[in-house]
Amino acid sequence: EKMTFEGNIAFENVTLLYEDTNIKALDNISFEVKKGETLAIIGRTGSGKSTILSLISRLIDPSSGNITIDNINLKKVNLDNLRSSIGVVPQDAFLFSDTIKNNIKFGNENATDEDVIQAAKYADVHDNIINFKDQYDTILGERGITLSGGQKQRVSIARALIKNPEILLLDDCLSAVDTETEETILNNLDIVCKNKTTIIVSHRVSSAKNADKIIVLDNGKITQQGTHYQL
Ligand code: ATP
Repeated sequence: EKMTFEGNIAFENVTLLYEDTNIKALDNISFEVKKGETLAIIGRTGSGKSTILSLISRLIDPSSGNITIDNINLKKVNLDNLRSSIGVVPQDAFLFSDTIKNNIKFGNENATDEDVIQAAKYADVHDNIINFKDQYDTILGERGITLSGGQKQRVSIARALIKNPEILLLDDCLSAVDTETEETILNNLDIVCKNKTTIIVSHRVSSAKNADKIIVLDNGKITQQGTHYQL
């Protein structure tokens, strides 16, 4: 039986220095995001956004300060339990040379065909898929068709959604879709992620549309924090 977290995340005075480059990617940042909330992290390239996500997945540990999940220090939690609670949509989606269906099911091998279709609908890629001759059995990659950047991103979102994680981390994964498609997906996420902790990282302010909280990062520092209305 997998043990998962509720998904309440808190950063307390977190600093991250990449020792090999001596770059201080995050400088004393604090914020909180609770189960059911959506946090948008907006900032220019290199401002430290992806570093925050790497810390949450514990790919790296803070140089100083504390990160907690459900009030437990992240350093004390079981990594398997942590990672099974988290779904990540990376900046550059990695798709296999296999069917679209299997690429989506990679997020959850036990998923049914209906689950695959539902996830693709939420990710706003279902209509594209059914226009291919082989639909969900369409092969991607060297032996098959090449998806556009935006289609790849949406297949990758479907893959994360089908896992049904408590915590969803979206790393600038809407950068290649137009603003109308972005809005559709954000509205769908608002519904699917009602009881999840969602963190959406973007360089575009439009990605913060439905966020409960917004953090603006600049050079590793939080320069603004608040709601859409406040900012
Ligand atoms: P982007 O929008 O371009 O993805 P970002 O806001 O996500 O940028 P980060 O990827 O968190 O920014 O990078 C913050 C800073 O840390 C940058 O100056 C980057 O060069 C540096 N950095 C990131 N990862 C590493 C690493 N593994 N080793 C050394 N330096 C790194």
